[in-house]
Amino acid sequence: MTQHFDYISIGGGSGGIASANRASMRGAKVALIEAKHMGGTCVNVGCVPKKAMWFGAQVAEAIHKYSADYGFDVTVNKFDWGKLVESREAYIKRIHGSYDRVLANNKITVINGFAKFVNANTVEVDGVQYTADHITIATGGSPTWPTIEGAELGIDSNGFFDLTEQPKRTVVVGAGYIAVELAGVLHSLGTETKLAVRKHMALRNFDPILSETLAEMMTEEGIEILTQSTPSKVVKQADGSLVLHFENGTSVETDCVIWAIGRTPATDNINIESTGVTPDARGYIPVNEHHETNVKGIYALGDIIGKIELTPVAVKSGRILAERLFGGITNVVMDYTNVPTVVFSHPAIGTMGLSEPEAIAEYGAENVKVYTSSFAAMYTAVTSHRQMTKMKLVCAGDNEKVVGIHGIGLGMDEILQGFGVAMKMGATKADFDSCVAIHPTSSEEFVTLT
Ligand code: FAD
Ligand code: NDP
Repeated sequence: MTQHFDYISIGGGSGGIASANRASMRGAKVALIEAKHMGGTCVNVGCVPKKAMWFGAQVAEAIHKYSADYGFDVTVNKFDWGKLVESREAYIKRIHGSYDRVLANNKITVINGFAKFVNANTVEVDGVQYTADHITIATGGSPTWPTIEGAELGIDSNGFFDLTEQPKRTVVVGAGYIAVELAGVLHSLGTETKLAVRKHMALRNFDPILSETLAEMMTEEGIEILTQSTPSKVVKQADGSLVLHFENGTSVETDCVIWAIGRTPATDNINIESTGVTPDARGYIPVNEHHETNVKGIYALGDIIGKIELTPVAVKSGRILAERLFGGITNVVMDYTNVPTVVFSHPAIGTMGLSEPEAIAEYGAENVKVYTSSFAAMYTAVTSHRQMTKMKLVCAGDNEKVVGIHGIGLGMDEILQGFGVAMKMGATKADFDSCVAIHPTSSEEFVTLT
């Protein structure tokens, strides 16, 4: 007999779990279908293992760059990559346990397996059909691979998390979040690392203070950035090493190539044609402001809609949808503007709102005022290994409303959230200045800019 639910989420990632839990808390009968591991990309092969590796890299930097000047005579006998991976995976296992408990408490039916649509209100998993009044597609995506000869000799970000041994040499290919994050982690942990970008720099759509400073810092730290370098083929040599060739005729020898060139939405195998929902040319699912597709009762959220691919965005939109369907809150929509975001590069980048060029394009140069600051982070200034922090406020109009906030430097990952609240409330430069600084911190610079 077909089991019927009020709400089914296809995909147990950030968005699917959040929407399922909230729907159930509002009284709905809910099923959550997950093909692989509960928690999706973020928990298993994304934010969480990445941040654990990033913390590992921070420890390495503290030991190798800063400990001596703080008076510690440290001898490191070895760095055990396998131990870091073991600690990371044990942590992820504990997160799985916590998901299981919460889903069980909320009386959600968890279905393990790959869901395909049968029609607009029926899905099938391993030959069993389930129907629902409301079905959300929250299937996320997977790493994009290049279609060049020998591409299979490389690995993607999932493969990076599968590494049980540290590669001696790595070339990370790509110019986005994942490329700079993985390159930073690998370098700090001792891998000889190169970053290959096909244009002039990584993160080229970020405010220039961020992308330019990051390029300078990565280079200073010893990561070689290969610019204008589009891969053309990968060849394996007799000794097992790889040669990555570029369209510009150059090549580089390495032990590991990581493709970090974007993500591909997971809509191709779910028999979506049977529902009447039509993905766009890239495979993303178009939705309106309520995350409704063109077919009544089918919704999509998270990475699959191709808007902003961040966990908190998927979580928030999932909760808003569930509240709308089962909680009676019909006047709230997900706001995709002014979303704060952090790149866990070395050092971290925090950014929200318009870059300076975007603000000028929107308001006109004469209506934009920019405040910047550049200083050595105190933690590093006490040592011989100084590291710069750079910050920028982009303000618009006569009242200097803050329309962009950008920073790169130690602590930016933790600094941005609070300023994000201020920006969401429409804070002006004068509002920032009205808040007394906290001294000595890096964040105080944002309220003392002149
Ligand atoms: P996902 O989390 O991808 O979940 C989709 C789930 O659906 C998967 O578990 C998949 O197995 C399942 N699924 C797919 N098809 C089916 C099917 N037919 N049937 C059943 N199940 C199916 N974001 C941040 O905010 N901060 C970060 O620091 C960060 N770091 C990242 C690092 C990396 C390396 C990567 C790859 C991503 C990172 N992200 C980060 C992005 C973040 O992981 C995603 O934005 C987020 O996971 C999207 O959530 P989602 O629910 O849309 O999809
Ligand atoms: P991104 O879309 O951020 O970046 C990929 C970049 O790679 C492109 O912008 C492009 O840059 C370059 N590229 C694309 N195709 C090729 C190609 N064929 N050859 C060489 N370079 C290419 O993708 P990511 O995979 O880095 O990350 C996906 C998303 O996941 C991010 O956008 C982000 O939303 C999320 N994420 C968030 C994190 C966080 O919050 N800290 C961390 C990791 C991921 P160009 O055009 O300049 O060449």
